[in-house]
Amino acid sequence: MSKEQPDLASRGAGTSEAAAGGSNPLRGVGVSPGLAVGPVARLAPPAGEPAAATLAPGADAEAEAGRIASAAQEVAAGLTASAQAVEGERRELLETTAAMASDPTLVKSAQKRVRDRHTTPGRAVWEAAGEVAEQLRGLGGYMAERARDVLDVRDRIIAALTGSPMPGVPQREEPFVLVARDLAPADTALLDPTRVRAIVTAEGGPTSHTAILARALGIPAVVGAPGAPDLAEDSLVLVDGGAGTVTLDPDEAAVKRAERRPTAARAFTGPGRTADGHPVQLLANVGDPAGAQAAAAAGAEGVGLFRTEFCFLDRAEEPGLEEQVGAYRQVLAAFPGRKVVVRTLDAGADKPLPFVTAAEEANPALGVRGLRTARRAPEVLDHQLRAIAAAAEAERAEVWVMAPMVATVAEAEDFVAACARHGLDTAGVMVEVPSAALLAGPILARAHFASIGTNDLTQYAMAADRLLGSLAELSDSWQPAVLRLVEATCRGGAQQDRPVGVCGEAAADPALAVVLVGLGVSSLSMTPRALGDVAAVLEATDLARCQELARAAVDAESAQDARAVVRAGLPVLAELGL
Ligand code: PEP
Ligand code: MG
Repeated sequence: MSKEQPDLASRGAGTSEAAAGGSNPLRGVGVSPGLAVGPVARLAPPAGEPAAATLAPGADAEAEAGRIASAAQEVAAGLTASAQAVEGERRELLETTAAMASDPTLVKSAQKRVRDRHTTPGRAVWEAAGEVAEQLRGLGGYMAERARDVLDVRDRIIAALTGSPMPGVPQREEPFVLVARDLAPADTALLDPTRVRAIVTAEGGPTSHTAILARALGIPAVVGAPGAPDLAEDSLVLVDGGAGTVTLDPDEAAVKRAERRPTAARAFTGPGRTADGHPVQLLANVGDPAGAQAAAAAGAEGVGLFRTEFCFLDRAEEPGLEEQVGAYRQVLAAFPGRKVVVRTLDAGADKPLPFVTAAEEANPALGVRGLRTARRAPEVLDHQLRAIAAAAEAERAEVWVMAPMVATVAEAEDFVAACARHGLDTAGVMVEVPSAALLAGPILARAHFASIGTNDLTQYAMAADRLLGSLAELSDSWQPAVLRLVEATCRGGAQQDRPVGVCGEAAADPALAVVLVGLGVSSLSMTPRALGDVAAVLEATDLARCQELARAAVDAESAQDARAVVRAGLPVLAELGL
């Protein structure tokens, strides 16, 4: 990764070590640009299972049982206070958890264990919560989903009993830099960008979902920084999400520079086109109705990737038809008369959904994920297509549907046929597996369009887990092998006269966007914040230049060379501060 530093610094996204002052910076992978300064607040992991132990002889069991009630009250009060300080979904979630901490069922059952069996309070809470969670799971549906909340409350009460830090994202009044080993998608989804100034994680790569969500929220982020766990609580750090550095105790000048830096995204007024007027649709990636509204407000020409699984990430069971139709309709309603590409459930690997994925797979990224989940649960795909068709019928958006992780011509053919059975006439495939890129011709003889998921295409072309920070230089869509697969897909699209888009993170990199357009990609879908930057660079570059730079990138022998040769050929990047 250090090889990339000069290039990142030269595009003005970063600040040099000398400029930041303070000690030598920690290095990681910059995945969401921007400078931010703030005190470290660490995401504490749950303390874990307390040993199965009993009270010391002569201990006062009644007093020990009383400590459980006090700890539960402390947790409920803390959560209620945090809930008051926030709005919307975050508030609801905190209030629900607070209510659960106040519920006497768990406390009474734990106290009984202390009184009757002399179990230690922490162990008693652990056992009692396990039992309550099990009962809830047995009830299924909404109640089963609450099992997670019980376990969250359990971990908090145990932390209060043992004096350990509260697990989860810290709830603080003052803005802070969140430091964690890694973040679960649910943690990241609930982050408040007005409080979390930056994110630093020890794990994770540039296309991990933490990185994607941080970019969507406009929070500067550095992932894969092995030194992150050593950052002390409350120490002041300067995070450079472009250069991938974290400087401890930055000097005053660097702090002032960070505070002066504009955080607003460049405006996009569309439509996307090159300098000579070649149209390039600039679309948004969204995960829920709120994201769709934000994308429409940002001027996106449509939605190029609606990640439907993000509506259902915490669900223990398949959402019902009505609920699905409701969620999809809200997204479609934000884009009347515009294209919305709905991706069917992409469960598996780092996005497990218990109703379609297996808990035990040795290599989940190579396992039953994406469209493959329809092999074991064909009815889930069928229900989802029915819901998408009903939503499309009720709204005015131009609905396209695509399947993730298509690997063979037969899968493409089956998916298109399944869509047709539901009256969904524009059915496509995501190209995320190298086999699909190489077979793009025959696949696109069946499917109506392709959308390249460069995040997974890079993972599978380079055999590098997209979550692994230590392989970040392989998880780079500038790798010439990945660009050659994009080229092969576009060749297949041209043969069949079918459009090929890109909806992976590569589309949001303005320099790489030029290469993709030069290779023949006709739409780019990205986090709405990136639309203005990508549009500005395309508008300054004509198609012939895009093609020349694409050739140079494909012919390069390393990601570093590809990036360097293209960036050197695009002086507009420096002019725009990109
Ligand atoms: C991709 O793989 O590039 C993609 C867009 O899908 P996801 O990031 O949701 O896996
Ligand atoms: Mg993918």
